[in-house]
Formats: sequence, C-alpha cells, structure tokens
Amino acid sequence: MKRYTGQNRKITSKWRPATRAVRGGTARSEWGETSEALFLTSGYAYDCAADAAQRFAGEQQGMTYSRLQNPTVEMLEQRIALLEGSESARCTASGMAAMTAALLCQLKTGDHVVAGRALFGSCRWLTDTLLPKFGITTTVIDGRDNDAWKAAIRPETKLFFFETPSNPTLDIIDLAAVCTIAKDAGIKTVVDNAFATPMLQRPLDYGADIIAYSATKMMDGQGRVLAGAVCGTEDFILNTLLPFTRNTGPTLSAFNAWVVLKGLETLDLRIQKQSDNALRVARFLESRVPRLLYPMLESHPQHALAKKQMSAGGTILSLYLDGGRPQAHALLDALQLVDISNNIGDSRSLMTHPSSTTHAGMTAEAREEMGITEGMLRLSVGLEDPEDLIEDFDQALKAAGL
Ligand SMILES: *Cc1c(COP(=O)(O)O)cnc(C)c1O
Repeated sequence: MKRYTGQNRKITSKWRPATRAVRGGTARSEWGETSEALFLTSGYAYDCAADAAQRFAGEQQGMTYSRLQNPTVEMLEQRIALLEGSESARCTASGMAAMTAALLCQLKTGDHVVAGRALFGSCRWLTDTLLPKFGITTTVIDGRDNDAWKAAIRPETKLFFFETPSNPTLDIIDLAAVCTIAKDAGIKTVVDNAFATPMLQRPLDYGADIIAYSATKMMDGQGRVLAGAVCGTEDFILNTLLPFTRNTGPTLSAFNAWVVLKGLETLDLRIQKQSDNALRVARFLESRVPRLLYPMLESHPQHALAKKQMSAGGTILSLYLDGGRPQAHALLDALQLVDISNNIGDSRSLMTHPSSTTHAGMTAEAREEMGITEGMLRLSVGLEDPEDLIEDFDQALKAAGL
C-alpha cells in the first residue's frame, strides 16, 4: 500500500509543491481509501496494559489521546510541513492559537520581543496587552525599516515577530535582511505567513525560524473552518512547542483538519488564479480611487522587494478613499456581488472597512501609526470572473461618488 507520510521522505522530497499539496502526508488505512480518512475519535485502545505503559513512556509508536495526536490531524501536519519545507509542523484550532502558542511556548518573564507594527489586530493584542501582563516587554517598530529592527535589540531580546505582507496595510518586510539581523544577534524569528502561504513565499529560504499560519484563510480557502499551524525544526516542535500545546490544549479538531486537507489539494490552483484576479481588479480600481496598495503593482512603494520574495501578489489589496468613513461605507453598501465581510482568503470576494471592524479594538493612535485611516477599505479577491467583479465595483464606485 502506498503511504505518503513524512516518514517516506525519499519519495516526498522529490515532489514539487503542487504535488505535495495533493499527496503529502496521506496515510492510508487498511481499506486503501484514496481520499484521507476522517478519524473522529478522542481516544485509542491498546492490545495490552504493557503496550499502554510503553506508549505513555514514549517507547512505542502510536497514539494515546486526541489532544496529543490524531491520524487525520497528523496527515495535515505532515502535508503543511512538506509545503513549508520545514522539518516539522503542528496544527492548532485557529490562527490565533498558533500565534499565541508560537510566542508563549518560548518566552518567559523578563524576555523582550520586537514586533512589526503592522500586525493582524489580535496579534497586536498579544504584543501590546497579553505579553506585558506576564512581564514580557515588547517594542513595536515600523517593520519596513531594517535599521529599526537592529536598533530595538536589547540583551534580553528573544524574538522578532512580524507578518509580510501585513494586514491590512500590505507592508512588505525584507525577510532576508530582518532574519539575518536576528540570526547575528541570536534572536529567533516568528513569521505570520497567512497572506502569502508557502505557495507564494517561503520564509525558511530567507532564514526564518518559525512560520505560523491562520489556515482559516487560503489553506481552507472556502470559508468553512478555523485552523492554524506552527512550522519549525523537529527540535523546536518536539521540545518547545509540544510541551506547551499538549498541556494547554489548543488542539485542532479532526473534522476541521480533514476540511483543510481537502482545501490544500486546490491551494496552488486557487492562489495563482486569485492572485491573477486580484491584479486585474487592482489595475481597474487603481484608475478610479486616490490610492491603492497591491504588492504586484508598480505603484506599491516596496514593489521591488515584493517581487524578490513573493512569486505572486496574493489575494488582498487595500484602497484609500478621500471621503472618510461615510464614503467607505457608501461603497460597501452599494456592492451587489462582493460581500461585506471581514474574512479573507475565501473563494468569494469579501470587502471590509478595517477601522470600524477588524481594527476597531485598537486605539486611534495605533491605527493611525499603522496607516489604517477612516477612508481605507480592504478587499480579498475570490474566484469569481474578474469581469463581474470589475462591473460590480464600477457601479458601486459611481454610487459612492467616484
Ligand atoms: C486571520 C489571521 C490571523 C488569525 O487567524 P484565525 O484563524 O482567525 O485565528 C492571524 N494573522 C493573520 C495575518 C490573519 O490574517
């Protein structure tokens, strides 16, 4: 029987990413099913008491309890590790569970973290509110400024934490430069790679240590389940991440893991097509609004860097209107095809007004510092025909006076 698990590295290491996304991690049961089996079980039975004892002692291969291991979740973990090119990966119940675990598992009171300021709203809550509660200090900088990373380092700095492209301002952080600064100072980097996915950008190639994901976004890609993942070396996953996650329990359900396994089969197709659609819609919108940000447009201030480290622009673009919240809301309300929704990475095109939704929880100053104005809108481009999207925006822009 053909098994495509991580143990079978001889086969899988030859595969290109699109093949890994379809085949990687598959572990067939005795029935030889082609599509991965869904193991809805919380526990496992043992042939004898000695087996149970050995398994708990780590002397026998096998599973003990689904907070710790599950066959369906393990298939997804191996597939994600193969896509990322990391030695190992573990999945979590959501992207925020992945971010929280990736940070807390390696920090203690007295440590210091430097973070790029343009972070997902809840990630900023981790750096600004949660970590300081435990005596972990944080410095938030403009991640586009390589010198600012260097200047923020203190003797007790343990981690650099950033996302690129960032949400929703699409800042690009220089992966090679920032990871080198970190390495030279003995600091680990944690990169939130949700926007690009391993199909468009591989932070490990630039020296990043830990890659964390919201798999809710492009990996599921059809707006169905929440999931997350942390990728890193075998040593980091086994000895640093697992003691934290096994005992705190941010475990991914087998059902949600199965849905993401199905999603990954089409990840390469979807992200290429959605990136093409996003570029076409971005070119149209750019001619009609005062300012628009998309990494693969020549007008993006960091276009050259984006082209260097990403193979396509991804699904997200942001635009700025001069008429503030009233005009931004008017445009949203006039849309007939595109949904008003704060999710991203769906096969449906979704648009949101960050300052009144995803980033409403932060102070006005923090929003301002990040470049989230009242006239800003974020669009996640889906799989619809781009001509239909352009027609919808054409009429909505007119309705909003543009
Ligand atoms: C959505 C998102 C998260 C959080 O993921 P959840 O699955 O919603 O918990 C973190 N970082 C980025 C960049 C995101 O887009």
